[in-house]
Amino acid sequence: MSERGGGIHFPLGQPASPDGEAPALPPTSKRRIDPSRLERPLDSVRGVGRTRSAALAALGLRSIADLLERIPSRHENPARLAKVSDLRIGEEVTVRATVRTVAVRPTRRRGLKVLEALVADESGAVRAVWYNQAYLADALSNGPEMLLKGSLRRYGALLSFVVTSHELLSSGDVSEGIHTLGLIPVYPASGDVSVRFIRTLLGSCRDELEHVVDPLPSHLVASQRFPGRRDSLLSSHFPVSISEARASRKRLAFEELLLLQLALQRHRRKEEAERPAAALPAPGRLAERFLRALPFAPTGAQTRVIGELDSDLARATPMRRLLQGDVGSGKTAVAAYGLVRAVEAGGQGAVMVPTEVLADQHATRLGEQLGALGIRVALLKGSTRAADRRDTMTRLNAGEPMVVVGTHSLIQEEVTFGALRVVVVDEQHRFGVRQRAALVTPSGDDSWPHALHMTATPIPRTLCLTLYGDLDVSVIDELPPGRTPVLTRLFYDANRDDVWDFVRTRIDEGRQAFVVCPLIDDNVAVTAASASETFRYLTSGPLASYRVGLVHGRLKSDRKSRVMAAFAAGELDALVTTTVIEVGVDVPNATVMVVEDAHRFGLSQLHQLRGRVGRGAARGYCLVGASEADDEARERLETFARTDDGFALAEADLRARGEGQVFGERQTGWGDLRVARVLRDRKILGLARQTAASMLEKDPEMSSPQNRLLADAAQARFGGLTSWLDNV
Ligand code: ADP
Ligand code: MG
Repeated sequence: MSERGGGIHFPLGQPASPDGEAPALPPTSKRRIDPSRLERPLDSVRGVGRTRSAALAALGLRSIADLLERIPSRHENPARLAKVSDLRIGEEVTVRATVRTVAVRPTRRRGLKVLEALVADESGAVRAVWYNQAYLADALSNGPEMLLKGSLRRYGALLSFVVTSHELLSSGDVSEGIHTLGLIPVYPASGDVSVRFIRTLLGSCRDELEHVVDPLPSHLVASQRFPGRRDSLLSSHFPVSISEARASRKRLAFEELLLLQLALQRHRRKEEAERPAAALPAPGRLAERFLRALPFAPTGAQTRVIGELDSDLARATPMRRLLQGDVGSGKTAVAAYGLVRAVEAGGQGAVMVPTEVLADQHATRLGEQLGALGIRVALLKGSTRAADRRDTMTRLNAGEPMVVVGTHSLIQEEVTFGALRVVVVDEQHRFGVRQRAALVTPSGDDSWPHALHMTATPIPRTLCLTLYGDLDVSVIDELPPGRTPVLTRLFYDANRDDVWDFVRTRIDEGRQAFVVCPLIDDNVAVTAASASETFRYLTSGPLASYRVGLVHGRLKSDRKSRVMAAFAAGELDALVTTTVIEVGVDVPNATVMVVEDAHRFGLSQLHQLRGRVGRGAARGYCLVGASEADDEARERLETFARTDDGFALAEADLRARGEGQVFGERQTGWGDLRVARVLRDRKILGLARQTAASMLEKDPEMSSPQNRLLADAAQARFGGLTSWLDNV
């Protein structure tokens, strides 16, 4: 057991957690508070050998601090402490009883083994059974006293007490009751490390909590009525009540998010100091003309976000704003406004979009809208002709005031900007961090552009960005007036004919339809084949007498653009596609969306697809193909049909996939969030952001005595992240 020296030593009498209340710990020795003790490796704890410590390390548990900071994923409800004589069938209880006899029997089914014991207390005896834990037989053979948690079940004529967890009392175990009494904390475990073992280990390390130091300044702990750090850990692992455990988790989540925000915001402040941007003059006549020429009155939300842009653009530090707004909420008009501001200031604006189809659409729309104001709008994509490309690149390089719309081409080619003022990244979640960063680089005049990242769904990576990229966030939380919600229905193979009937009726009314074929195994060729197959089926069957187009990833891009243009112009009745239309495409006359094999899509993705219809005043319909056999998938799709809120669907996706996986992209050497959960704790995240901002406002270097611990903690925990951000 090696003690690494050099830790902070607190003189006796000074509480480590300045929460002002008596610590809820049992009185222990008069040792000094010595946080360095918590850095000792877990194999210094009794009962942890080399094998176990390796298995613990695989769970991310190396030091005592790691263990103490591993907050339970949930708490199991307490069971009533009952006498054997008053066991009731089905009620979960804990009994204290002594083992009389033990036997192991095979069961008839599945080769399970059952461990049976006759256990008794002073009120009576009962047959206790454990499934698949025959190895316990030895430990029970000498008739120990035990705590048994479980419930009484009836099997035919036989009554058995089925044990879900237990502990031996006669072993002199200090941690009596930790698995069976009261609220039981549950931890993520592994095949090699059981939850029981983690609980037991925590029981042995309980006294070490004494050495926990609270990095939060006392005024903050007091004003938020947070428990101290030590008490929070104590009541997470050894909870007395569920409300106490919850309050503790909340405080620990806040602390973690505050450290994260401090690290990010300090990083950002540093960056701002190093990255000059051109402060744009106040909006003038051109901006005003743009707004007046819009074919609609902006919604309140659009107006608000435009105001947010204006104040960002007035600053000499680059804007870094994430614009969230559900599909169809009108983000494009806001983006166009930003581009107009860039040109009005004598500079350039650029829009990067993920697909050529979308680039075409934006170039056409902006070309009309901004062209009317005398602004040049150029298009740069993979299939742009060499002469046009050269012309555009020359103009951009020379700093000519203009707008360019492009795909990845904007960053892949040697495009240089003479005076890039505003960058818009549409459907930003479709780009990687590096791709976005590649566009947001200084112009020829050394100034950094203002950047607006737009997204329709707070899909996981967006959340990541919000958290980690430290963007400012704007939300358009209001749809343009007059929209009727899209009606979503599931269909099965059995009623496929009705689907095509429905589609024909809508087309006969003058509407248009999308038919989306699933992405198959991420394989472009196979997916294209399935789309072609569907196309052949529809054109020789249900839609034989209609005008049907086909777009998929295997088509040449000018062909794709032509088909899309024909559909947008109403020259096609139906469009069979793969997900190339998923993002951004706007054809208000299309009112029906049929999605085949919808279970292959994430809910957020389906929501994006659904957003393609019902964009005009007419009611939109989304018909999603489900399989009757797959209950789980059907349930997900039913959730989708019921829910019209993109944020809620993103949450459902996240719950289904798990947050750990979501942050997979981040596994670049700086660890995970341990306590906080991004979606669940988004209010706390808001508070942490504000708190960090106001702290840094008052004490930019975090050098005051009350902030120093916090600054050190932020560096220790998230220093790796900010150096990662430096490199993206
Ligand atoms: P998204 O946010 O999904 O990018 P768009 O910007 O494409 O949405 O807008 C969707 C549709 O709504 C477009 O046809 C657009 O012209 C229209 N629109 C946008 N803002 C308004 C508004 N304030 N009032 C009426 N229609 C609007
Ligand atoms: Mg859009």
